[in-house]
Amino acid sequence: MTHQTTCCYCGVGCGIVIKQEQNGRLSLQGDPQHPSNKGMLCSKGMNLHYTVMDQSDRLLYPQMRFNRSMPMQRVSWDAALERTAAVFRTLIQKYGPDSVAFYVSGQCLTEEYYLVNKLIKGFIGSNNIDTNSRLCMSSAVVGYKLTLGEDSVPVCYDDIEEADVFLVEGANPAWCHPILWRRIEAHKAANPTVKIICVDPRRTDTARSSDLHLPIRPGTDIVLNNAIGRLLIENNAVDNEFIVNHADGFTAYREQVMQRSIDEAAELCGIPSEGIYTAARWIARSKGFLSLWTMGLNQSAVGVNKNLSLINLHLITGRIGKPGNGPFSLTGQPNAMGGRETGGLANLLPAHRDVTNAAHRAEMEAFWNSPIQIAAKPGLTATEMIDALSDDRLKAIWIINTNPLVSMPDVNATEKALKKARFVVVQDVSNRADTVQFADVVLPAAAWLEKEGTMTNAERRISYLPKILDAPGEALPDAEIIWRFAQKMGFGASFDYTEAAQVYEEYARITEGTSIDVTGVSYDILKQNRTIQWPYSMNDGADGAAGTKRLFANHQFYTANGRAQIHPVPDENRSEPTDEQFPLVLTTGRIRDQWHTMTKTGRVAKLNQHNPQPFLQIHPADAEVRGIRQGQLVEVQGRRGVVRVKAQLTDDVRPGLCFMPMHWGKMLNSNLNRANNLTNALVDPRSKEPDFKFSAVEVVPY
Ligand code: SF4
Repeated sequence: MTHQTTCCYCGVGCGIVIKQEQNGRLSLQGDPQHPSNKGMLCSKGMNLHYTVMDQSDRLLYPQMRFNRSMPMQRVSWDAALERTAAVFRTLIQKYGPDSVAFYVSGQCLTEEYYLVNKLIKGFIGSNNIDTNSRLCMSSAVVGYKLTLGEDSVPVCYDDIEEADVFLVEGANPAWCHPILWRRIEAHKAANPTVKIICVDPRRTDTARSSDLHLPIRPGTDIVLNNAIGRLLIENNAVDNEFIVNHADGFTAYREQVMQRSIDEAAELCGIPSEGIYTAARWIARSKGFLSLWTMGLNQSAVGVNKNLSLINLHLITGRIGKPGNGPFSLTGQPNAMGGRETGGLANLLPAHRDVTNAAHRAEMEAFWNSPIQIAAKPGLTATEMIDALSDDRLKAIWIINTNPLVSMPDVNATEKALKKARFVVVQDVSNRADTVQFADVVLPAAAWLEKEGTMTNAERRISYLPKILDAPGEALPDAEIIWRFAQKMGFGASFDYTEAAQVYEEYARITEGTSIDVTGVSYDILKQNRTIQWPYSMNDGADGAAGTKRLFANHQFYTANGRAQIHPVPDENRSEPTDEQFPLVLTTGRIRDQWHTMTKTGRVAKLNQHNPQPFLQIHPADAEVRGIRQGQLVEVQGRRGVVRVKAQLTDDVRPGLCFMPMHWGKMLNSNLNRANNLTNALVDPRSKEPDFKFSAVEVVPY
């Protein structure tokens, strides 16, 4: 038997065909019918079936304990959920609804995200739900809202073949979005005049296959973007018609970018000024200008300003809403966008509504028939939850399908906070999740292929994922765990679901009339069409169209006055300073064959061959003055902790910069492999996204 589904790793959202043999063995290949990958898969996707067939690490039964010094006991689902409901009810009565929180994941399906949001925001009365998307896309969300009016990615993958200049900034799609990158490479191979500009302090594989690599100093992205903006203005490459009729803020922007000369900008960025001139010249002459970015811009103390400085280049040149043109934030996780659609951040409500908007709250209260008023104050964000656990403002946390003991910044503080928490629920697939050791209740979740639901990829494309396999033991789909818990909390009439399709239909209804209207999308239509790009209302599709490829073709934006907003931004960086004690900058990131905290990819022998151990990349000149040899064990010291790994001497990193992958958690009972021992919990003031890409460190031989 064969089944069509979607890869559960990155936001490219590749279609997969699963073949199930009579003996139960699985094989897979890329789905040639899926428009996002047209049959291709990267190394992670090609090996996904091994993670399903190896069930040695699966959590199989609900477990709980009454004291952390006791071993976990296997219990029934009823016992686990009744105890959890009793603890939540007691804490809420005694300390109020903000004493509990959910921390969820961009791995969750849309239906799961929707249900958790409905439960805590509409029934418990707190907005304390955040997601690991806070660590990933929240700066892009704020950037889009400020400039375009809503969190709406304007472009689609088909724009790749329409573009002739790609500005890839703070991203390494050759490793992290490989199928998208192959499509760009194929387009360039067929059209040699296409230009790729890569902005990255590291010489990544993306940089190697670009026409122009600008290895800027960490934290100087805004300096560079403002300098490019200045050159576009000086060379009459702006679109005056677009600015006059469709955008506000150009005059202030011009004043801002004229404050710094190109030579000054080049000096600050640590690159030759010729590189800036070349980038601006190529953008000015292009017919299609696509910019792509990920964590290098988002994970920053000035992440929103970095986003704004890049989106501004599209707004001053009118390069948006036209084929081959637009800003394109590449989603890290498979359903980070689906989560944002359902209100899966502490400041959001479903369908891009906002908790601070009284009319939006009233709409959702009426729709949900809420027994309480939705709180007007945004809930705790990811890092704020850790602070609140530490000082006992937050008493209980329920962690779903994410591994904050590896992925949070300043992870030693996260570990202390979880130890201190009064009540921790861990809902996960794998016993490899580092959080399990701190749990009071463990709930086994169904994995990929074991539950049905939907996900939205980086180009607003919704895919349906069927249930293909039975979950092992007593593991349940995440959505069912949440609706069963809501029933135990006494909200049964509003959580009386029996299947995920009912949840999707309910969510779709509340999108009616919004910019992300998906009232035309149902499981039946998705099974028939395979995928649909939102918006797709109940009035669409009569002509056979499968959604909306591109937004803003009419240059009507979702802002109050319908005009795009150009936001001039200063080029300061607010990261922690380096000094004599910690003179180097550490940046973190991903490697080609691992995914996040390795609970899945770490079990696949083939994938571990690429880079079997954590490492630190350091420039040979920085290594020499410290007496560090190739392959030597070094201690990386920072203001919050240390790491001990082998040194890789390479001029792929700039002098003064080190790089360490973020994937590894505890190995051999040591937590000295965790890159996030060193990162800091400094966040962007508006997006609350942490500054993972800039931590002050020193490196010494060990
Ligand atoms: Fe999966 Fe992303 Fe690889 Fe596609 S590119 S196969 S979605 S990990």
